[in-house]
Amino acid sequence: MDATQQRFIGVDVGGTKIHAAVVRTSGQVIERHRLATPQNASAEEILGTLIEVIRELLDQAGLGIDAIGGLGLAVPGIVDYQEGKVCTAPNIAISGQPLAAPLREAFGVPVALGNDVDACTLGEAWVGSARGCNSAVGIYIGTGIGGGLILDGKLVHGDRYSALEIGHMIVDIDGPLCGCGNHGCLEAIASRTAIERDIRAAIDAGKTTVFRDLLDNPAGRIRSGVLKDALRQDDKLATKLLRRSAKAVGHSCISLQHLLNPQVIVLGGGVMEACGHFLMPLIEDIVEADPYLAEQGQTRLVQSVLGDDAGILGAAALGMQAAGLDWSETAHAQTADYPTLQPDGSAVLIDSELWTRDVMVRVSGKVKKRKRKGRGLQLTSTQQLLVADIARACKGGPERLFIATPNGENSLQQPVHSFLRRHAIEVDLRPRDEALAAFNASDARRAIIILVGPQSEA
Ligand SMILES: [Zn+2]
Repeated sequence: MDATQQRFIGVDVGGTKIHAAVVRTSGQVIERHRLATPQNASAEEILGTLIEVIRELLDQAGLGIDAIGGLGLAVPGIVDYQEGKVCTAPNIAISGQPLAAPLREAFGVPVALGNDVDACTLGEAWVGSARGCNSAVGIYIGTGIGGGLILDGKLVHGDRYSALEIGHMIVDIDGPLCGCGNHGCLEAIASRTAIERDIRAAIDAGKTTVFRDLLDNPAGRIRSGVLKDALRQDDKLATKLLRRSAKAVGHSCISLQHLLNPQVIVLGGGVMEACGHFLMPLIEDIVEADPYLAEQGQTRLVQSVLGDDAGILGAAALGMQAAGLDWSETAHAQTADYPTLQPDGSAVLIDSELWTRDVMVRVSGKVKKRKRKGRGLQLTSTQQLLVADIARACKGGPERLFIATPNGENSLQQPVHSFLRRHAIEVDLRPRDEALAAFNASDARRAIIILVGPQSEA
């Protein structure tokens, strides 16, 4: 079989769940499967679960292993890329465990193992918001802060496979104690854990904050979604702590720009996903104000467009690499599989199924109704599209978003433009029939929102 027609499997192994997917060489996810990571389990049991996930995924996809060109795994820890072995993984019992060899034995295909944040950065460089870039830094802000680096199209691992531990870059020499034992690491100031630590201290000190009401379980974890709710309510404490995060991350971006001069810095992770609308403008302002590179122009800052899929896609890219394919070859994009769109009166035929209401096709090729909270209203104007609509259509990370407009009118609200720019998504608005034809003819990784217009019924 032609290597570019083969499928690859990417597995993202997290502390709570294992997410696996079958992926085309175009980066299109064609099937996915998730299982809970066994808790308090031995390395042997975790390996058993990995084999089970992959077998079930293949079953679900109706594929035999002969259709698979290679397999990649992303794990949360320090990884020996040469040996395919986990050196240290703090949150999952696979430290010291070789993973590539037993999986190679079980499935008989090339297998590669990588660090999860490296994989996310690789996924973004392959088909995400850093696509087409020869050098990229990924910064993932969640429970901790992780980083990944691609230089000259290659992942950089460092001498002992732990390069780009951005979370442990010291940004305040007198700063708070970090989990690693140093003081003032970026992670100790800007991560969700650092924010949570200071929210609890403020509550204990009797400060007024909405977090008192937002936390059903005062001892439980403060999730990124709760931070977003607190921002929405203009909570002073949330605003102050997230501003501090943005400041620390922004200045770290300046340092990275000076150290590595990458083409692009991709910001992702749970905190960015939930609070990016608040953080990004602040981070952009800090980086743009850097006087040192005022003449040459700054590194481009973008948000992760792949979200949760960055890990599986990056892992699949590692699998491609193990099979001798170059993930950066865009020619592979030819194998993506999208439905064909055709106008039919005021409705739209999507692969022979008739749709009479607003609808979207995602980058996966899947068709979804355009939902709007509490109402099934058809939109009559592209001005009515909200960031939430766009984010839903752009799940999975398109390179180009087509918007089929009911009457040729073509303006979007400013927050929608900002969202698209920050996620490196080109937008192409056209009158409906023209947009359908342009979508069919495009070879980009793409999505479309089709507004049917007011004449059709819901
Ligand atoms: Zn640290």
